[in-house]
Order: sequence, then structure tokens, then C-alpha cells
Amino acid sequence: MIVSLVKKESSDAMNTKGSKHLIKELNEKLILRTIHENLRIDRASIAKITGLSPATVTKITASLMKQGMIREVGSAESSGGRRPVLLSLNPSFGCFLGIKIGVGYVELVATDFTGKPLERKQCETEENDPKSIVSIIKSCWNSFHIHTKDRLLGIGVAVSGVVDSERGLVKDSFLLKWRDVPIVEMLSKTFHCEALVMNDVDSFAMSHLWLGNARNHSNAVVVTLGVGIGGALIINGKIHTAKGGVGEIGHMTVVQDGALCTCGSRGCLEAEASFAALVRKIANTTTHKGLKELYKSVRQSERSEIEYLRNAKRTDRKAFQRVFDEYAQLVGIALKNIINTLAPDYLLIGGEALEFAEDFLDNAIQFAVKNSFGRLGEGVVFEVDDLNQENWALGSIYKLIDEKLFRVSQK
Ligand SMILES: [Zn+2]
Repeated sequence: MIVSLVKKESSDAMNTKGSKHLIKELNEKLILRTIHENLRIDRASIAKITGLSPATVTKITASLMKQGMIREVGSAESSGGRRPVLLSLNPSFGCFLGIKIGVGYVELVATDFTGKPLERKQCETEENDPKSIVSIIKSCWNSFHIHTKDRLLGIGVAVSGVVDSERGLVKDSFLLKWRDVPIVEMLSKTFHCEALVMNDVDSFAMSHLWLGNARNHSNAVVVTLGVGIGGALIINGKIHTAKGGVGEIGHMTVVQDGALCTCGSRGCLEAEASFAALVRKIANTTTHKGLKELYKSVRQSERSEIEYLRNAKRTDRKAFQRVFDEYAQLVGIALKNIINTLAPDYLLIGGEALEFAEDFLDNAIQFAVKNSFGRLGEGVVFEVDDLNQENWALGSIYKLIDEKLFRVSQK
């Protein structure tokens, strides 16, 4: 279990037997966080920011340096006297691996100790069962070349659906057809290091909190459109996870008695507007023989469905646009409902559907802003994801770094 630094500092635990050790751990993590946030910083500035005494900072930084977690990186300008030596995290201390398990593929990204991406790979998956997926992840990892590969510090894995991060379980991933899969245990045993699982859209949102504009807004909603439709909430600058099933906007009802959804309900947004639904709607309405024929070979995988949509846009623009006009309407309804319910100041749209943004997105946003309650829609900053695909996996690494390096674990 992980508890926040601030909470821990004020807790009664400080008075117990292990308080000395706890204080050391707290101070270590506080200093690591300060170095991380400032990239390069001297000891006196660390003392000023953290409120720790210069002697404590000297002692702890010496210990962190001995462990290889930080290093000296030149010196700053002097304001009289000796030039202060700058410290930074040591990128080569080890590496982290982030994984996104998608439908038909796994995406792996390795970062250095600071979270900087070093190498990424996507490997196709034929089977969806957890054992096969883990074995493909392993063979995909075997093909990585980074020099810190033998110092794997932890694995973050991002999976669609309802995830119990505390217990390391994927509770219900309808897209993967997984139920109560102990993915953390499976990965820890295979890779002999600690692992963490989180919902894939939360992971995506987390990467935007670290790298994108989401960090400049306190209340944000992230919506991902593509093979599935997902959402994540950022409230007061933090991802809101509750019981692990927050932000499942793909399963809000948009059509009464509509198409059957993978979740078992009917008329969910995902059932009506996932890539599979768009492909099916085009195949049902097109008069183009080739497109009808091609539908038979479409598999339930991102690559296969995107390829069909690209093909439809080229060969039967009319049928394609009709379906995407309806898509704009459905997405617009969902965005409107989100704005009315949560009044976010920032709404980020991501996902594979952005490839077709020009065919639906402006209309969807316009519908949402025009139809939202009062003037709620006018204040929302809309942005589309301009980071790369690897961000789906990166967020889980950032969560891992945050918990492993900056928080004290409650033993
Ligand atoms: Zn559903």
C-alpha cells in the first residue's frame, strides 16, 4: 500500500519504534523528488526548498550518490565563494518498462531512471489469453537493446477496463475478455521485479500530466476514441481512480435498446461508436462490392479495423462520411454530458480515431459546446493528443516512479 508523503509526515507513525528509519526514508524521497523536479540543483537549494538542514542534505545526498541514484553534474554560477556543485538523478541507475496491452498488439516502451523514453517496440498478438500475452511481452522485451536492460527496476502495465491497482488485478477487461487476471503477479514472476497495473486511459492521462498541458489545468477530462472508448478524470491535478472503474464514458447509454455492448449492456457509446461499430455500419450501408467483401476479413484488432476505415474513406467516401457524421453526433452527445456533469476546464481527446479527426471532431465539439448547460461549454479548453502512441504505456512508468521513488511505502 502506498501513502502520500504529506499524510505520512503528520501521522502518529513518526512516534513509533521505526520512526528513525521512517524519517530517513522520508527525507531521502523528499530529496529525490526535489532533484527530479529541478533537474539540476545544488545542495544549498535543496535545503532551502525542503526545509532540511544543510548537514542532513549533505548526509543523504552522499548516501544516494553511493547507491548510484544521483550524480554530480557540473557546477552553478557562484554568488561569491565556491561554485556550488549541481546534482541530478543518474539516468543509468536502471530502467523501467511500460506496457500497453491492446487488442491484437502489445506496446512496450523502456525509459531510463528519470522516465525518459529510450526504446519502444510494438509486437502483434494472435491470442488474447493472459499467459500468451505475458510470453509475447517477454519475447518482445528480449529484443530490446538498451544498455541498462539488466537493471530493470520495475514494470508498469496499462490495460483497458476495470483494474484493481492495489491487488494487482485486471478485474474486468471486456475488450480483452479478461476477468480477475493477476497480471502483476504474472509479470513480477516472469521478470523478477516489481510491477504495477493501471487502467490504460488513466495511464494515458498520467503521461499528459507529466508531459502535456493537462498539468496546467486542475480539472480535466481525457477522452480516448478508437477501438474502444475510454475516459479518465483529473481532479485538483490528480487522477481520480476511486474503485478503479472511473471515467468509463464508453459505457454511457446513447441509444435506447441500441447495439449489444461488450459489457453486456445495450446502446453504450462504445457499442455504437467503437471502430468495430463504425466498420459494421459502413459495411451495412455501402453499395461498394469490394468493401462489402473486405468486411468478411476484418478481425477484431486495431490494425485491421483502421485499415478498413482508411479503405472505406478512399473507395466509398459517401458511406464513410454518413457514418462519421453520425459518429460526430454520438461523440458530441458524450462530450456534452461530460461537460454538464463535471464542468472541466480542460478536455483532452486522444486515441486512434484522431487519424480521422477532420471527418468528425470539429462537429462533435461544436455540438457539445452549443448544447451544454448555460455557458458551461464556453470555458472549456479542448485539445487533441499531440504526444505519441507510446504515451499509453509511459503513464504507468510515471506512476511507478512516483510511487517507488517519491512515496514512502507503508510496511
Ligand atoms: Zn457497454
